[in-house]
Amino acid sequence: MTKHFITKMAPIVKKFDYLVIGGGSGGLASARRAAEFGIKAAIIEEGRWGGTCVNVGCVPKKVMYNTALHAEFLHDHKGYGFDVDIKAFDWRRIKKSRDDYIKRLNGIYESNLEKSQVEKIEGHGILTSDKTVEVNGQKYEADHILIATGGRPIVPNIPGAEYGITSDGFFELEDLPKKVVVVGAGYIAVELAGIFGALGVDTSILIRFDQVLRTFDSMISKNVTDNLESGGVKVIKQSVVSEVTKEGDGTLTIQTNNEKISNVDCLLWAIGRLPNSDNLGLDSAGVNVDKHNNIEVDEFQNTSVKGIYALGDVCGKALLTPVAIAAGRRLAHRLFDGQTDLRLDYTNIPTVVFSHPPVGTIGLTEAEAESKYGREKLKIYTSNFVPMYYAVLEKKVRCNMKLICVLPDEKVVGLHIVGQGCDEMLQGFGVAIKMGATKAQFDECVAIHPTSSEELVTMR
Ligand SMILES: Cc1cc2nc3c(=O)[nH]c(=O)nc-3n(C[C@H](O)[C@H](O)[C@H](O)COP(=O)(O)OP(=O)(O)OC[C@H]3O[C@@H](n4cnc5c(N)ncnc54)[C@H](O)[C@@H]3O)c2cc1C
Repeated sequence: MTKHFITKMAPIVKKFDYLVIGGGSGGLASARRAAEFGIKAAIIEEGRWGGTCVNVGCVPKKVMYNTALHAEFLHDHKGYGFDVDIKAFDWRRIKKSRDDYIKRLNGIYESNLEKSQVEKIEGHGILTSDKTVEVNGQKYEADHILIATGGRPIVPNIPGAEYGITSDGFFELEDLPKKVVVVGAGYIAVELAGIFGALGVDTSILIRFDQVLRTFDSMISKNVTDNLESGGVKVIKQSVVSEVTKEGDGTLTIQTNNEKISNVDCLLWAIGRLPNSDNLGLDSAGVNVDKHNNIEVDEFQNTSVKGIYALGDVCGKALLTPVAIAAGRRLAHRLFDGQTDLRLDYTNIPTVVFSHPPVGTIGLTEAEAESKYGREKLKIYTSNFVPMYYAVLEKKVRCNMKLICVLPDEKVVGLHIVGQGCDEMLQGFGVAIKMGATKAQFDECVAIHPTSSEELVTMR
């Protein structure tokens, strides 16, 4: 990260009601919503408008996930009666279409700011001790300052780590690698390994323990790990990388605690993310961070300094675009629209992992529910079936579902699904769970047939 310094004597050039540092998901949403209330808002961005999600996250990732789905469906065409002769896959063509799409989005984000009359300031923002923000040697003042600076991928501190790329680098790859090792067990590692695997790359995912997605419900961790393996991705367990060397032919050799993996042409670190809270002047402004450098906030997104707020990935909680957006919009309503009690409820946030097949999850895992309510208070419903899509195919990828209910009224406190279509299934069930639905209320909803989601309202 480039070091930025503040200019002590810079005069204040402009005063705003609301000044946002970071033009990503949370910052843009908050600044634009605030401007609707007739206040003077500005937003500072040092990179591309749209932040992680648009440029190196959700959006380009989903394009590549869709690309991978095409590769999967191709294998199924024959079973459905189509003889299709596919000659080649052109990575550069999809990369160009994807990059063009992202450029269009960057432009749309910029013009939306103009339409909303939010002033754009380009450069690196740093808080100063007198509660102003300095950008390119100029000082900006505001009654309310929001920090929404996001995060960045971690690269480990081991010899040769620099030969690897991160998820940011994934989106820069000009060619499809032949042999890939993805290090990490979180959702980004799983998703990117899944994309490479589906596109026919010799792919390994290297994990420290025995399963991926270990913070998810055990049913999900087990099934996603199994599905990676049956989908052709090698899951290298109990493994830690100690050194990476670059050979004369440009390939990488990865030394782990167990083995040497050679001829790797792409090593991808997906071992977690760090908040962008350094190099922001937090110390001089008196904004507190926790031991992981996440900015500490209360439930209203207030930091330790009055008039300075933070939200999104830089706070290290529920690192998801819609979370940053929802927190940002609520903050704008609270500060400038008189809704003084408005805040984001961080419970029951639905989440999808775009694995193959995808995962949907909301609420407590079985382990969490057990420690919160006690085993005797829980009733767990499970279902495990082959979706009808596979009826005429040799390949069978099972769907697994779990409902975690609390007695005596069987309130649904956790819903976990992994299988074809689960990504699009979750949102509606999320509404029901957020409303506090019980199992009986699930069952009162007549099933839609033939779908996989009907299982969720017919479990016994
Ligand atoms: C590979 C990948 C896939 C993902 N997939 C999904 C998904 O499918 N669904 C989902 O919900 N989430 C997904 N996410 C997470 C999502 O992208 C983030 O949670 C979201 O972008 C966080 O928004 P934010 O506003 O907190 O920060 P960001 O969107 O990261 O925006 C922060 C902005 O601040 C700027 N900035 C930082 N410091 C300064 C400074 N000092 N001055 C000026 N500007 C600064 C940065 O350049 C950046 O543009 C994914 C993330 C990754 C990496």
